[in-house]
Parts: sequence; C-alpha cells; structure tokens
Amino acid sequence: MQNENIKPARKKIPRNKISEQQPASRIKNFSEVELGFSDQQALLESQRCLMCKNPKCTLGCPVEIDIKGFISLIKDKKFHEALEKIREKNTMPGICGRVCPQEDQCEKECILGIKDDPVAIGKLERFLADYGIKNSKQNNSEETALHNNNSGTGKKIKAAVIGAGPAGLTCSGELAKMGYDVTLFEALHKAGGVLVYGIPEFRLPKSIVDGEVEYVKSLGVEIKLNSIVGKTYTIDELLDNGYTSVFIATGAGLPYFLGIPGENLNGVYSANEYLTRVNLMKGYLFPHWDTPVKRTSVVSVIGGGNVALDSARTAKRLGAEKVYLIYRRSEVEMPGRIEEIKHAKEEGIEMVFLTNPVEIKGENGWVKKITCIKMQLGDPDESGRRRPVTIPGSEHDIDTGIVVIAIGQGPNPVLMQTSPDISLNKWGNIIADDICKTNKKGVFAGGDIVTGAATVILAMGAGKVAARAMDDYMKTGVW
Ligand SMILES: Cc1cc2nc3c(=O)[nH]c(=O)nc-3n(C[C@H](O)[C@H](O)[C@H](O)COP(=O)(O)OP(=O)(O)OC[C@H]3O[C@@H](n4cnc5c(N)ncnc54)[C@H](O)[C@@H]3O)c2cc1C
Ligand code: SF4
Repeated sequence: MQNENIKPARKKIPRNKISEQQPASRIKNFSEVELGFSDQQALLESQRCLMCKNPKCTLGCPVEIDIKGFISLIKDKKFHEALEKIREKNTMPGICGRVCPQEDQCEKECILGIKDDPVAIGKLERFLADYGIKNSKQNNSEETALHNNNSGTGKKIKAAVIGAGPAGLTCSGELAKMGYDVTLFEALHKAGGVLVYGIPEFRLPKSIVDGEVEYVKSLGVEIKLNSIVGKTYTIDELLDNGYTSVFIATGAGLPYFLGIPGENLNGVYSANEYLTRVNLMKGYLFPHWDTPVKRTSVVSVIGGGNVALDSARTAKRLGAEKVYLIYRRSEVEMPGRIEEIKHAKEEGIEMVFLTNPVEIKGENGWVKKITCIKMQLGDPDESGRRRPVTIPGSEHDIDTGIVVIAIGQGPNPVLMQTSPDISLNKWGNIIADDICKTNKKGVFAGGDIVTGAATVILAMGAGKVAARAMDDYMKTGVW
C-alpha cells in the first residue's frame, strides 16, 4: 500500500487534454460540453491517487462512496467492478459524475489538492457510468428484493413516493430493492425532476437521466406521470387506500421574484419557466416542437448560482449576441460551480458583478431596459458572505430584450395546501428529522422540499435515509 507521505512519480493529465467542445462551436448547439475521459485518460488519472491510509475524499462525499476503492479498481482496469463499487452507495453515477459540486465535496478533501490538483474524482465517476452504458452492464447490481416484505397474505406492502426527482427516484429504487410495492407519483409528463426540466442538455444529456429512470422502473417501481398529489389525490387518500407509508420529495419548484416594478412585463421569465420551456418542452427546437421561447439579441440574467449560469448559457445557445449575468455580490461569493463559471466565461457571458436590478422598464408591454444600482460589500451576513450594500446615486440602465430571474426557488405549496396537518417552517419547507420523519404518522419527507434548494447528491442521500426509516416503520409499525 502506498504511504501518503511519500510522493510517487505522478503524471497529471493537463487540463487542456480533457476533451470538451470548443466554445465557438458549442454555443451553437445543445450537445454536451464535456466529452469525458477516454480509457487511457481515466487510467492515467487513477494513477495519481495516493491510496491514502485514511482517505479524506470519502469523508467529503455526502453518500460516502469508497472512492479509493473504485479508483484502485480503475487502476487494475476492472471498470465494471469499479462501477459496482460506486453503485453500492450511489445509484446515479452518470448524473452525479456530471453535476455534483465535487470541488466542494470529495475533491475539496483530496490530499493532493493541498499542493496540486486533486484527483478528478467526478470525472472518473462519470467515466465509469458512461463505460457501463456503452458496455450495457451498468444496471446489474442487486436488482432483486432483499427481503420479502409481504403482509403475510402474499401481497407486498405498498409505499407511495411523491415527486420523481433525485430524492424520489432514489427512495423508490431503495424501497423496491427491499421488496416493497412502490408507486411513484409525478406531476409532470416526464420523470427526473430538475434533472429533466432544469439542468440543460449541454450539461446533463436527458438520455442519461432516462437511463436512471429506466433502472428504477426495472426494479419494479410503478411511475404514475401527470399525477399531482394534492389535486389528483391527497396524502390522506393514499394512506387510506392501502399505502402504508408515504415519502414526499416534491422539491423546490416555486421561483422567487425580485419584487421590483416591471416584473410583469412581457419578456420577463423566471429561470424555472425559461429552462422548462427550453429543456423539458424542447423550445430550442421550435417550431418542430410546439413550445416557443422568446429570442432576442440581448438577454439579462439575474443571479449567480447554477440556475443563473444555466439560463445565461442557454440564452447564448438560443442565439443571443450579448448575455449579461447580473449578480449583486462579487465573483468570490458566486454560489455556481467553478467549472460552470469557467465555461460561461469562455462562452462570452458577460459577468456584471456588484450590481442589482431596481426596475425593469418596458415599451408597448415588452421589456426594453433594466435599471440597476451598483453595490459594495459590507460586513458578513448570516450566510458568512459579505453583505452587498447599495451605492446611492449609482443607478444606470442596461438595454435588454429579455430578463431571466434566477434568484432562488421555494417549495411548491400545492401539496401542502391539502395536508395542513404536516408541520412547515417559516419558508414553507416541510420539517423533518434526520431520518426524514415528519410530524405525521407514516409520512416522511426529504430533498429540496425539506432543505430548500440544495444539490442532487444531498437529495439522493435523503431518499436513501428515508427508505431505511420507512422500511423500519413498515416492518414494525412503530412511529
Ligand atoms: C437549473 C438548475 C441547475 C442545477 N444545477 C445543479 C448542479 O449542477 N449540481 C447539483 O448538485 N444540483 C443542481 N441543482 C439543484 C438540484 O437539481 C436539486 O437540489 C435537486 O434536483 C433536488 O431534488 P429533489 O428530488 O428534492 O427535487 P426535484 O428535482 O425538484 O424533483 C421534485 C419532483 O417533484 C414533482 N412534484 C412537485 N410537486 C408535486 C406534486 N404535488 N405531486 C407530484 N409530483 C410533484 C416535480 O414535478 C419534480 O419532478 C440545480 C437546480 C436547478 C433548478
Ligand atoms: S482521491 Fe485523494 S484523498 Fe482520496 S485516496 Fe486518492 S489521493 Fe487520497
């Protein structure tokens, strides 16, 4: 075993050798930007791993993947085994390898990162998932039920999951593997949650998400699309109609607005609507597909997170010549992934920092300009980031044809309006404990509906935790 204090002869993959579409061509299409490692690149990168005695990387992973274990299998060219090692803890490596903020998680903790680049753990994870798809063995992990959870009558115990995003899909898959009869209710006509309606194709191809959904179905989960719980059925109706336990995973799909004059003008979109039109409804293929989305030469996106970056890069691909990303703090405070910020800059997105909109101005009902004010950073706020403070008299106009608002999302209230007995916090998120238990007997909740807008891996982690707790409850009846 390699001692982590001894520096081995290491070859680093020059970052420019990681293949990706070049900016000039990729802004004209919606195909994936990153093309992933070749076998050779993956092998070379795996050799950089020090095989630490106490690997810090795994401590940084929210689902505790045995990172050193799977990298060691890559080194031995045992790619299928390496994929299975990941699948022990994470059923969606193709998704997580692409969109997880590894720089804040496993790669942040990697010992190599102190003096050098950390091991590209996310890219290795993605490599294995793609290898599995190409060699069609990716879904051969324990697909059979682990226990025979029947009610003594030969019938399986029924569980309901509401919302087919990463939390709901993970929970459903885990419960099905345990032997439960799982129905997954999804409001939209397609399963995947934000993975299909929010994150664009150029970052996460929908075929990858479809593959994960098919995997969950192959475990026996019945997915009922176009089923809005709270409208089509209530939670009490589910519990009264044979479902022993319910997991709520309805996410944070309600967009926040700025509350400034002019937000009701034509040409103002929430990022949620803009991205849903383009991604889920394939607005970028209009008129071959039915859903239109307005295209103008100048687009202004408000916000600094992944949602804002995805909106700005989408606008560019829809043909905008100038895309401004207007953010009230500085680049250091931007919550978006470092890689996405880099890609956005390469694609010519103009970052307008320390600037905040105060009014949207229009003509004949359509957006024309956005009035902004300059900001400066003051003392840190409760999030630990320096608070932006306005600079009086610094108002100025920016000409724009579209404004996309990407300043955050909250929980959709539809479901909770028909379940007033479930406790919520002041933001409308469901209150659940660390095993996802709510205050209502038999009802669990997890993912963004509990935490507020967070990450895919945290939502998946909650789905796993909830499945274990639901299993305990359904077996024992003890709440
Ligand atoms: C544009 C965008 C980019 C992002 N980029 C990243 C990224 O790069 N990396 C990362 O880790 N995270 C990213 N995130 C965050 C991440 O996608 C979310 O944290 C994650 O999807 C939350 O999962 P979830 O299962 O809790 O909810 P969701 O993915 O929101 O899924 C909830 C599902 O519930 C359904 N639903 C809602 N109400 C009902 C109802 N009443 N009945 C039935 N179904 C219902 C919804 O239609 C949806 O399908 C991004 C988010 C957005 C919006
Ligand atoms: S990935 Fe980094 S922290 Fe993890 S075992 Fe390898 S060198 Fe050590």
